[in-house]
Amino acid sequence: MTESQVTVFNSGYDTVVRGGRVIDPANRIDAVCDVAIRNGVIAAVGPDLDATGAKIIDAAGLVVTPGLIDTHAHVYEHVSGDFGLNPDLVGVRSGVTTVVDQGGPSALTFDGFRKYIVEAADTRVLAFVSAYLAGGLLGHRYVDLYGPTGINVAAIVKTAEENADLVRGIKAHAEPGGYSRWGMASLKLAKEASREVKLPVYVHLGTLWPELEGTEVDAIKIIDEVVPLLDPGDILAHPFTKFPSGFVATDGSIHPLVREALARGVRIDVGRGAHFSATNARRVLDAGIMPFTLGADLHGYNIRIGDGGRAYRGMFSDGADSLIADDERASPFSRPYSLQHAMTELLALGVGLPEVVRMATSNAAVMIGFEAEMGALSIGMPADLSVMRLIDGDWTLIDSEQVKFPAHTIVHPEFSLRAGKQYLADSPLLPEFAAMAA
Ligand SMILES: [Zn+2]
Repeated sequence: MTESQVTVFNSGYDTVVRGGRVIDPANRIDAVCDVAIRNGVIAAVGPDLDATGAKIIDAAGLVVTPGLIDTHAHVYEHVSGDFGLNPDLVGVRSGVTTVVDQGGPSALTFDGFRKYIVEAADTRVLAFVSAYLAGGLLGHRYVDLYGPTGINVAAIVKTAEENADLVRGIKAHAEPGGYSRWGMASLKLAKEASREVKLPVYVHLGTLWPELEGTEVDAIKIIDEVVPLLDPGDILAHPFTKFPSGFVATDGSIHPLVREALARGVRIDVGRGAHFSATNARRVLDAGIMPFTLGADLHGYNIRIGDGGRAYRGMFSDGADSLIADDERASPFSRPYSLQHAMTELLALGVGLPEVVRMATSNAAVMIGFEAEMGALSIGMPADLSVMRLIDGDWTLIDSEQVKFPAHTIVHPEFSLRAGKQYLADSPLLPEFAAMAA
């Protein structure tokens, strides 16, 4: 036999993910088809592909999407204290192929992030570098590290330029505690660096630090000063926060400047976190304001790890720890959730599945400027796939204010493929969906 005859008996694919409902928003695909992989990249997408000689992964009855991208993760494990989670436990082993650390590594600690997190993980790990020299140590607990004197614009620029393969933006905050101390000074410096390196800032909204004693901040007005500083592509995070310092005022109204920000090309990331309010989410969505990306914002203080969780307490006696009250140890801060759970919540609030998939795939890729290499099932792209089961039923979801709301579909991770290699969704951090049964 000649070589060409041999190839007749072999499709040439290494792996074929067979018969799933493929939702690939960037390529306008929503159909039952196969995804073929060769040498770790996407080789073909279509119905009834020839899989001769290839490993077949059965996806019948499952949803197959481009690898999910979690735009808001905290994975600087061992350096950011209990705050940083293992990248593979929130990544490939949770059905997520790429995670973007939001502000864990800084100019002072970026080399360690590359060597001990990025290079050690099977998950693809990227970062928005912290605006602050300290980085996200212990989830930003020591507030005095995060003022303008702890920011060095030249150091951010140098780190971003030297690590352009990993640094996709800059993480900053605009919330009452920081505002009471320094106004917008920290965000202004972060924007100075962002403009120089032409990368977006990701702006955390919603109470993080206690306000300086003796000051009184009108929380809803913070956005007044944030929006004029932003450029197209910058990101406002936590639109659904329960705190009255985000998009929604205590009277339930949406801040008028949010629309102006959207019109100027500013993007919204859900950054689900432990402050997710279904009530505020409904208000924002009812106002016609749609997030661009999802972001789970999982970290060691809002998710249970092993024996009862590691919710941080005990080191502070000055009130800084009050954001996590003792009686909330079990709930809601340690109520397990996941990126797919954040997808489930959006479905329950009326957003369609293809749109939710778009947020966690192609839109996320655009947000980090990597749409040419991820977020789609295009031929030649790394074979990053997420495979999920939609479980229909009468479910009850609970938000951080103990508000219950019904869901009829749960998005449950089954497995992921990262560069063609399969990982089961067996992370101990994933929630037990059975607990949501009504
Ligand atoms: Zn976060």
